[in-house]
Amino acid sequence: MKLVYRYRVKSLTGLLNKQARAVNFVWNYCNDRQKDALRFGRRWHAGFDLIKLTTGCSKELGLHSGTVNDVCQQYARSRFQARRPYLRYRGRKSMGWVPLKGRELKREGNAFRFAGNTFRVFHSRALPEGKITDGTNFSRDRRGNWFLNIVLEVQEPPARLPVRGVGIDLGLKDLATLSDGSRIAAPHIYRASEAALAVAQRARKKKRVAALHAKIANRRRHYLHTCTSEIVGAFDYIVVGNINASALAKTSMAKSVYDVGWSSFRTQLAYKAVKHGAWFEEVNESFTTQICSNCGAVPDSRPKGIADLGIREWRCCDCGAVHDRDLNAASNILRRGRATLAVGIPDL
Ligand SMILES: [Zn+2]
Repeated sequence: MKLVYRYRVKSLTGLLNKQARAVNFVWNYCNDRQKDALRFGRRWHAGFDLIKLTTGCSKELGLHSGTVNDVCQQYARSRFQARRPYLRYRGRKSMGWVPLKGRELKREGNAFRFAGNTFRVFHSRALPEGKITDGTNFSRDRRGNWFLNIVLEVQEPPARLPVRGVGIDLGLKDLATLSDGSRIAAPHIYRASEAALAVAQRARKKKRVAALHAKIANRRRHYLHTCTSEIVGAFDYIVVGNINASALAKTSMAKSVYDVGWSSFRTQLAYKAVKHGAWFEEVNESFTTQICSNCGAVPDSRPKGIADLGIREWRCCDCGAVHDRDLNAASNILRRGRATLAVGIPDL
């Protein structure tokens, strides 16, 4: 599997700034050629064609030739993925980006060597053995810090036996309710920093605003990483509902939806599960709050739709079981996961 290791770069940031400008130049050149093709009704350039057009420019631009090739390929790929005839130009406001070929990056103790330069990094954790692959890049965040993102091909561990399973219901009040009854509180990190952010924004302190936003993002990421690592360590198979954040974001709960970060939570669970040999599954979560997890009926006393979001506890009028709304949903999600898991594993 491929994993990304991210290190903050602590040397040669001036050089990277310069290279990032050159990368933007190559990108904008690709965009211009694409616009030409549109204007004159020519065939659109693929990544390969753009590479041919940019051959020999790397020395003059102060870039590695692999970087130029990567920019061309990424331009073609992005244009295809965005389904657009051409893309936005890259300029000063774009996030800095310098891609490189994986084979050009070499380890050198706690530093990395690329194109004749040694980049020292804050060695926050050891880089495991494995092949450094393409997709590796330097990137600059909004505060002007450079990061080295190393894409690494590592071996997957053998899958664990699916003994301990858990269903996870994602919510707003609690970020997640686990089918074993435990709950993970929603972080509300944005709300905690809202006042400080407002002060900085009114004072038009751009750097302070950027720093606060970065801090919010960091804290949220850290919180999610702690939670997901714990879950993957404790359970062998993990089933999550496919709740759609963008649909809920259009309601009055938008701020809370963006604050909890369901999608990063799910993405982290998915890759960490693979990394540690656990099973991960996303199931359709429709009606999981309405079905009784005890008898399987859809009773009349169930909570219905967004209007009944306030109902936290209900009683099944068919079998008489009293349910906590989220816990009931988590149990149903686990059951759905088990049904599909059993198909994949013969001896379950
Ligand atoms: Zn029931």
